Order: sequence, then C-alpha cells, then structure tokens
Amino acid sequence: MAAKGKITIDQVLCKACELCIAVCPDEAIRLSEGLNDKGYHPAEYSKDTCRGCALCAVMCPEVAIEVFRE
Ligand code: SF4
Ligand code: SF4
Repeated sequence: MAAKGKITIDQVLCKACELCIAVCPDEAIRLSEGLNDKGYHPAEYSKDTCRGCALCAVMCPEVAIEVFRE
C-alpha cells in the first residue's frame, strides 16, 4: 500500500504554474481563492489524500513544496 503523507506549500514562493496540480496522482492540490503578495492564487493542499509520492515537490520550479511522509 502506498505511503501516506502530507505537504506544505509556501504561499509566498508559489507562482501558480499548476505543475504540481497536474502531476499529483491523488488530486490533493488546488489553487486557492486568495492572492499572495505577487498577485497569484497560490496552490494549496486541499484534500487529505496525499500518498507522499513527492512528485509535486520535484516538479515545482519555485521549490515551494515540502513533503512529509507518515
Ligand atoms: S506528494 Fe504526491 S500525492 Fe502528495 S500532494 Fe504531492 S503529488 Fe500529490
Ligand atoms: S508547482 Fe510550485 S509554483 Fe507551481 S503551482 Fe505548484 S506550488 Fe506553485
């Protein structure tokens, strides 16, 4: 069974490129409704379904995602 995990996304670093959303196999990330200081809707962890695969963190060009495995 896949490992269970969770992520944090730095709301200031995120530029809303959506690469993490596209790559996540568990659809655990979405764009937030709020704006960050750069004027983007930053990505946020939306569902407690993360398997800790770290694909989102590898893809993120801003290195804004940290993955924690349980
Ligand atoms: S670690 Fe994997 S499952 Fe978890 S949010 Fe990132 S891409 Fe999705
Ligand atoms: S890949 Fe990084 S910069 Fe792009 S939306 Fe996700 S957290 Fe933001």
